[in-house]
Amino acid sequence: MGEFDLIETYFWRRPGQGPRRAVVGNGDDCAVIAPAPGMQLAVSTDTLVEGRHFLSTVSPARLGHKALAVNLSDLAACGAAPVAFTLALTLPRVDEAWLRGFARGLLDLADEHDCELIGGDTTAGPLAIGITVMGEVPAGQALLRSGAQVGDDLWVSGFPGEARLALEAFRGSLHPGLSTEAFEATRLAMERPDPRVALGVGLRGLATAAIDVSDGLLGDLGHVLRRSRVGVSLCLDELPVSPWLATRSPDERLDCILAGGDDYELLFTTPPAQRERVAQLGAELGLVLSRIGQIETEPGLRLWHGTSAEAGAGEGRQAVPNRWTSFDHFKGAA
Ligand code: ADP
Ligand code: MG
Repeated sequence: MGEFDLIETYFWRRPGQGPRRAVVGNGDDCAVIAPAPGMQLAVSTDTLVEGRHFLSTVSPARLGHKALAVNLSDLAACGAAPVAFTLALTLPRVDEAWLRGFARGLLDLADEHDCELIGGDTTAGPLAIGITVMGEVPAGQALLRSGAQVGDDLWVSGFPGEARLALEAFRGSLHPGLSTEAFEATRLAMERPDPRVALGVGLRGLATAAIDVSDGLLGDLGHVLRRSRVGVSLCLDELPVSPWLATRSPDERLDCILAGGDDYELLFTTPPAQRERVAQLGAELGLVLSRIGQIETEPGLRLWHGTSAEAGAGEGRQAVPNRWTSFDHFKGAA
């Protein structure tokens, strides 16, 4: 099977299949897209490399899903609605069963988000998947890392930490190990993340800052703090704990939630006056949104145990030293 047959067979849609949003789609030298009037384009790229971003044990359909999901997650963090994407595929060999599965996982998620595959590049080499995604957001309304204000609430969506728990189970480093049920559930979080696109869109005009959690909650929170030139006080007792993490030791649980990575949840800030609206949005989306901290003037990150995020400085608050640093791809490279 030649390069062009492969591309046409697995990645081009037949008429009536999938979204048609581009002025010129797949098959020419360039695709041409026109954002709707009054909208701006948000663009982001993420590459997945075998052995570094995914394990060779992952099914091709889940890999296709995840490759696009991590990119859609970046759009979500900006409050952008998906429009189109390109796919740079590097393949060690042509394996049709693999390609069929990969394309299905990829295009099913793309269709779910009305996101059209408008082009790409296909080459031979070690397995790697590069995706560039484009979304649209009303002019001037993109959510940024730099907008957090002193006094804002800090929120996180869903249950961060599950993907890391599954990864450690794969590595055989959990003692005791996970039950089959826990393993399958957390493996789903690791291999098939659900990008929070609807949440991101719902946070337009509501959140002052947002980021998606890919490298660990505290590491990514650090980006928001630095870009916004603020600090935060974060209550460890307000962190959402998934049923699977609840069965682990307190240390392991915090390691996974605070520094796990690969979560693709959104971390965002809103003025305290908006608590009602945030709660309503969570209810509408059927998504747990947890208020975990407060933005403060003093730079840096302060962690504490205590009874309530309301508690302000004062009694009942016990400071916890930060022993978590963000995952670094070039630290101890495999
Ligand atoms: P060029 O040589 O002009 O870069 P290519 O031969 O690489 O074009 O690709 C031919 C057409 O197929 C282009 O429209 C390109 O966008 C598309 N394409 C190539 N690889 C992929 C892929 N993996 N998925 C979707 N479209 C692809
Ligand atoms: Mg090319």
